[in-house]
Amino acid sequence: MNTMDARKTLNKQRIVEFAKAQGLDLVGVADIGRFDGAPPRMHPAAILPEAKSVIVVARRIIRGNWRGIEEGTYWPNYTYFGYHGLLNSFFIPVGVYETACLIEDAGFEAVPYYPGVPEGQAPAAPVRPDTVGANVHLAIRIAGVAAGLGEIGWSKVFLTREFGPRVRLAAIITDMELEPDPLVEPGSLCDRCMACVPSCLSAAIPHKREGRTVEIRIDDKVYDWGDVDMGRCTLGYHGGDPQVSPFLHKTLPGYEIDVTKQNVTEDAAYKLCWPMAHGTWRPTEEDPSGLLVEGHNQLIRWGGGPGAASYGVEGSRGCMRSCFDHLEHKGTIPAFEGGRFIKRKRWSLPMRCGAQQTDESDAKAKD
Ligand code: SF4
Repeated sequence: MNTMDARKTLNKQRIVEFAKAQGLDLVGVADIGRFDGAPPRMHPAAILPEAKSVIVVARRIIRGNWRGIEEGTYWPNYTYFGYHGLLNSFFIPVGVYETACLIEDAGFEAVPYYPGVPEGQAPAAPVRPDTVGANVHLAIRIAGVAAGLGEIGWSKVFLTREFGPRVRLAAIITDMELEPDPLVEPGSLCDRCMACVPSCLSAAIPHKREGRTVEIRIDDKVYDWGDVDMGRCTLGYHGGDPQVSPFLHKTLPGYEIDVTKQNVTEDAAYKLCWPMAHGTWRPTEEDPSGLLVEGHNQLIRWGGGPGAASYGVEGSRGCMRSCFDHLEHKGTIPAFEGGRFIKRKRWSLPMRCGAQQTDESDAKAKD
């Protein structure tokens, strides 16, 4: 088939079926007009000026990825299969790349988009007067809303009707014109139950009574969610909170930090956590590993896979685990035949590393 024939025969249904055959679970389409109002450095047309559509895809995080962290016994699985190791860095990109090839075989340009974070892109000056600097990044969750895949829940995590928060996202920007999918009705997935709030032990998610929200508009719909404290979120998620890391307790006995009282930026939180996981110190009798926090470093070495840079310690206790447990139980998303995910009283550790478990730290874990 020549390119002209391929152009005529490729359509949205073929793209969706092909992407799903590559292992991607969900596929949605936004037309470029749904990004009207997006900041220039977060606009798909800043990457592909001729863009007409953005195809957003999701692949599920399986429940079992979290079982070891939920039980407090096994960590690498989450980073390896459910986060950076394979899911973000292999399972999803392969499907995205193959689908982009299908589109380009038909003579349309297709930009496979790496779902990084806008805040993480190194700044650079514009190379031409009529463009923006080389630090463009989509807000992938907002792109997911624009493509009709779901909405952003109170905890700032992306929710879908099929899997709740158990997904990771990526996208393809193309100059092919495709029928956009209908937007999800705001509030149809997140019921503001607040189960995510106390379950996030780092206190990153505000309660709705605080009234701290972020709001966006897409077409005629307004979406809002809690203004999450990304400094505390990062401290917890990447291993700066003794309440959720037995590895800190092993390595730094006596160290005490109350993450719930920290008011650092996301960037500052990364600067605190990253060196602890990646860094080295001379091997000593006290700690012969020569690593700053051996357990966190091990997550990178065992769990990192092709995308070895990142790792997860806290494992989305509130924003994902409590959330999908709630949404399944309520019937907002399909229930799991094997029963609820949270099966036992949940664990938490004292803020002072090496301290004995107390009734107080137990009591915090009753969510
Ligand atoms: S737990 Fe989920 S459904 Fe409940 S408020 Fe948080 S994000 Fe919304």
